[in-house]
Amino acid sequence: MRFDIVTIFPGFFASIFDNGILRRALAEGLVTVGVHDLRVFTHDRHRTVDDRPFGGGEGMVLKPQPLAEAFASLGIQPKTERVKGTGFSPDVDAEIEPRALAPEGNASENSSPIPPPRVILLSAQGRPFTQALARELAATERVVLVCGRYEGVDERINQIYCDMELSIGDYVLSGGELAAAVVVDATMRLLPGVLGNEASSEFESFGVADAEIAVAEDGVPRSQHGAGGLLDYPHYTRPAEFAGLRVPETLLNGDHSEIRRWRREQQLRKTLANRPDLLEGATLSKEDRKLLDAIRGETE
Ligand code: SAM
Repeated sequence: MRFDIVTIFPGFFASIFDNGILRRALAEGLVTVGVHDLRVFTHDRHRTVDDRPFGGGEGMVLKPQPLAEAFASLGIQPKTERVKGTGFSPDVDAEIEPRALAPEGNASENSSPIPPPRVILLSAQGRPFTQALARELAATERVVLVCGRYEGVDERINQIYCDMELSIGDYVLSGGELAAAVVVDATMRLLPGVLGNEASSEFESFGVADAEIAVAEDGVPRSQHGAGGLLDYPHYTRPAEFAGLRVPETLLNGDHSEIRRWRREQQLRKTLANRPDLLEGATLSKEDRKLLDAIRGETE
């Protein structure tokens, strides 16, 4: 998978992708990140990327022309002109990511169409970035992230090129760079081969439901449930006793079914306490619902 990030601060990303899982994924070629300096696409002595807002008001706005040129250099056409199935002009695709090439002939005739790429404008006004959306992006071949600054980006860039506006939370950042890094991190760790254990992302917060997880039959019952949209359960490691607090006995007894039950209860407790809104969309079994009722009953 490839990410392209368009920014006026390319230096921001110098070390951010140089650690942990992402560093390894980059080194192994599982993911590619291109960072593109917007100022390269200016033509004046001062390399001007911003201008005053029409209508007056605070701050500056990122000009449309350098962004349009940046897109052209990346082979990204206006939405209305994109080749169906790729969204990118074929000659640039060939250089960048062979898997992103349009199939020969009519893309719509292909039995396994290539997922469309996404051109994303990072914006506090965007739709919320979620794990479900990260999964959707991980299924695409290429994502282009546009980092705003100042008051934002000239709206015509959004209209002409962007498939979606994306917000990483209900707060205002000073630029889209942190948001772009969040999107890259959360998405790339869902790519096959990036996490050591393929199933890890399914068992963690916001992960998929049990029924959607294929786990090898090894005769040992699983000690975890698929999160099914709930938050994760608490984790502990050695020592078994720390600062006078002992690890819950259930986790020490080796009974996988019991551990599984305990962990599920903790997931429900934590979700109810911290993110009750998630319960509405969560995949819950009959047993989960009973447990939830019991937990709710404790506080009444
Ligand atoms: N005038 C904008 C507003 O009120 O929505 C805020 C602009 S903000 C200071 C500058 C840039 O930071 C935005 O163009 C966007 O790219 C980025 N940004 C700010 N908050 C964000 C968020 N919650 N999620 C994603 N990007 C954000």
